[in-house]
Amino acid sequence: MTSDTFLKGKTAVITGGTRGIGLAIAKGLASHGCSVVICGRSQKPVDEAVAAIRDTANGGSKVAGMPADVSNYESVVEFFRYADDELGGIDIVVNNAGIGIFKKTSELTVEDWRQTIGLNLDGVFYVTKEALGRFQKQSGGGYLFQISSLAAKNPFAGGAAYNASKFGLNGFSEALMLDHRQDNVRVTSIMPGSVSTEFSPGGSTKGADWKIAPEDISDIVLSLLRLPGRTLVSRVEVRPAKPPKA
Ligand code: NAD
Repeated sequence: MTSDTFLKGKTAVITGGTRGIGLAIAKGLASHGCSVVICGRSQKPVDEAVAAIRDTANGGSKVAGMPADVSNYESVVEFFRYADDELGGIDIVVNNAGIGIFKKTSELTVEDWRQTIGLNLDGVFYVTKEALGRFQKQSGGGYLFQISSLAAKNPFAGGAAYNASKFGLNGFSEALMLDHRQDNVRVTSIMPGSVSTEFSPGGSTKGADWKIAPEDISDIVLSLLRLPGRTLVSRVEVRPAKPPKA
């Protein structure tokens, strides 16, 4: 990765930035001069991630974070107030926090369903709502990255709740993009296949030899941010180049 600071003076909010894809994106942005604010579920991982992101930061970028529950609207409002105080303005928002509960439909509990939709869909709406209010006040608008999944177009057995949340997320994100592209609001849905993180059973090491690395998703975000404003990539499908043969 290059160490140029093309994002110097820019600011970003990343949900679920304590590990995995969110942490890699936060590091990638900070290493190119962007100030970042992250959230995660609890204080200790947030503090550890902030320290790790600071280690990669360049160009005087500021790094901060707080625990927040993205599935709770009041918590999201508080998180954005914190980000306002830390950053002064928000240019980029990465809707990354998400969970996967993988069970046969008959085994899904109401709580499993509510948790999945509550974070992967309701939470994305809460974050987007807070982001849009701010972007619309800024002449430069803003950029929203929605971390979706190939599960937003490929249903699979055991994926009913997760598929529903990610199919819904793509529908939401593409309508949102059409609603606000004239307002200088850019929206890209990034749809990865298997990424080596703690998200999947077996953790980040299982399949690390063939899965997408979180840093690759970060590099995609950075590439999109380099595009001229006249062009918008609305959907990116990302898959392992050589998954194990079935
Ligand atoms: P991960 O489990 O490693 O990290 C999830 C992050 O979200 C953590 O920082 C966690 O603290 C945070 N989080 C969880 N619940 C939260 C809540 N209620 N409020 C705030 N933060 C919360 O997962 P990951 O693999 O990095 O996944 C990130 C995103 O990428 C998710 O939206 C996931 O659906 C998507 N995705 C992952 C894969 C994959 O194979 N890992 C593939 C496609 C899409």
